[in-house]
Amino acid sequence: MVWLGLDDTDSLEGGCTTEMFCKLLKRMKVPYRDARLVRLWPFAEKRTRGNASVGAELLCSFDEASVLIDEQWDWLLQRCEDTAEPVLVLSKEQASEQNYWAAVRRHLPEKEIIIEDESRIWGEGSGLIGAIAAISWTGEHDHTWEQTVYRLPSNIGTKRKIPLQLHMLDEKFPGTFLNRDPRLNKGLIAPRSPCPVLLGIRAESAEEAESAWQWLSAQEGIEEPEDTMLWRTNQACDDHIESSIEAVILTNPIIREKGHCSVQTNKGEVVAFAEGGYVNKLLQKCVEGDEIEFIGLQYLGVFHLERLRLVKPVLRNKKRPLCECGVRMKSKGVGQLVKCPGCKTTTEIQWIGDTVGPIDWVEPAGDRRRHLAAPLSRMQKS
Ligand SMILES: [Zn+2]
Repeated sequence: MVWLGLDDTDSLEGGCTTEMFCKLLKRMKVPYRDARLVRLWPFAEKRTRGNASVGAELLCSFDEASVLIDEQWDWLLQRCEDTAEPVLVLSKEQASEQNYWAAVRRHLPEKEIIIEDESRIWGEGSGLIGAIAAISWTGEHDHTWEQTVYRLPSNIGTKRKIPLQLHMLDEKFPGTFLNRDPRLNKGLIAPRSPCPVLLGIRAESAEEAESAWQWLSAQEGIEEPEDTMLWRTNQACDDHIESSIEAVILTNPIIREKGHCSVQTNKGEVVAFAEGGYVNKLLQKCVEGDEIEFIGLQYLGVFHLERLRLVKPVLRNKKRPLCECGVRMKSKGVGQLVKCPGCKTTTEIQWIGDTVGPIDWVEPAGDRRRHLAAPLSRMQKS
């Protein structure tokens, strides 16, 4: 048995590394298992949108696989996008999982990659990190599944034909997730780019992902697919996140052009972009003194929020109480009673204002989340 990893065959303009790998395995005509789709650190340089890499365990010898890849390498290069730097890695052993954790949580420089002694590499450049990371991932702590369906070449670039019974997918296959955005009744299984993917069904189990597609593929009006592939994935597992962070807000929010919102906290600056939807709206509502908890990645010194909750809100529109005589009371100093400057009445009530309750976790709409991000519905699992 031997491990094969691949990355960086596509570009923002087109192509898809998962489809390339699916086709490559077919052409190699070699049995395989544990095909994996592994998403990596979202801020990596030269990444394409989803920053996905792929791999599988091949059920043949190292030498057999080596010969088969030699035969396919030119074909693969010709199919790659111009700006891509594709790399294939063949390794006798599964590569060290350290590679994966570094590549999913931070910038992993090439010189830090741990490559097994008995391995062979085709190509060079940015694809190396993803190709190694894909065969380093074990997913033992958590994983999900995706049934990916590919389009006939003649259909690529045209409108995808998917029947609208997506709410039934949720009902019939409760182990699937991210099928649609229930608030907007918008489907989430199909990408929006002109890539070769018709759709992907994400699920907690392989069986659930496969049977959901079997059912959907039998519905009237569905586009005829070219091929399908079942992937074990790190999607929705939160592997890019070490832990949530509790913080106290130090400044009222600054709302910039397009609604991007940022605040200073005692743990650093946090930002919620307009695309963050509910997260952005909640951050806008926060004020100085609020205690929050958030999940997000720090990039160039700023936390990019992915999920947020308001743990302990302070009073809004905070004022000193009004005295019975109509004058606003004043504080005489820290730890002292509040006193009316007019009639000298004192009170123990330091502040009045509007109370608001805590607000539980919010997340962006389904199509605005990172592939890596655990939806709130499976936050406990990950
Ligand atoms: Zn008074």
